[in-house]
Amino acid sequence: MKHDLKRKGILFVLIGPSGSGKSTFCSRLIRDFDDLHYSISVTSRSPRQGEVQGTSYHFVSREEFLARRDRGEFFEWEETHGNLYGTLRSTLQNGIDGGHDLLFQIDIRGALTMKKHFPDNTVSVFIIPPSFEALRERLVGRGSVDAAELERRFATARQEYEALLSLHGEAAKVDYLLLNEDLEDTYTHMKGIVMAERSRYLRMDGESVAKFCKVGGS
Ligand code: ADP
Ligand code: 5GP
Repeated sequence: MKHDLKRKGILFVLIGPSGSGKSTFCSRLIRDFDDLHYSISVTSRSPRQGEVQGTSYHFVSREEFLARRDRGEFFEWEETHGNLYGTLRSTLQNGIDGGHDLLFQIDIRGALTMKKHFPDNTVSVFIIPPSFEALRERLVGRGSVDAAELERRFATARQEYEALLSLHGEAAKVDYLLLNEDLEDTYTHMKGIVMAERSRYLRMDGESVAKFCKVGGS
């Protein structure tokens, strides 16, 4: 029989410029950790090669996105590189109600909104590439990005870095920073964060812990 401690669900939020490695880590984490559910965002951007409707994103038209926003379906939404992106309230609610850990890949503004509303549950991890050249190479290497789109993504990256640097020293805003040079090494650190956060006493259910703290005899 497997013994387990009950605890509150964790919202793992991966942040970082486009091309920093968020999707790569998300796919691996989902594969390697049980009960870690990926939050599929809704976006008005077109699918990239290899992206699957309902798996990578829920791809919708700009009109549909705005209609759903007006119906209050999003917990948070932002416009990035001219496209709209939003986290569904239903995903968040189902995760929290079901006691699951959720994994998000959202921008820094969305991550800060998450931190504000769920300070004890949210764990934010900012991923950066080792250099601008590496970022360019990885973005170009991933394919399906024209020069104008590349420039838009660099402009957003600059803004994300500015936001990151402005938050330096502020407790409980960005929790972890990973420099993604060697993929395997960085992923080992990423897994370490998930495992350590799952062991935090703060989120554990007191009664569940007490069940294990029994000592027999007089
Ligand atoms: P994001 O989701 O942040 O936009 P991706 O996960 O799609 O970034 O990564 C961008 C590209 O860089 C992908 O082709 C991925 O395989 C590659 N990549 C990610 N991490 C590394 C790394 N440490 N070294 C080399 N290439 C990497
Ligand atoms: P991409 O087009 O590369 O998939 O994503 C562009 C940016 O939008 C990334 O920084 C990504 O994390 C962010 N993003 C994706 N989904 C969401 C979301 O639901 N909310 C917010 N705020 N940002 C998102």
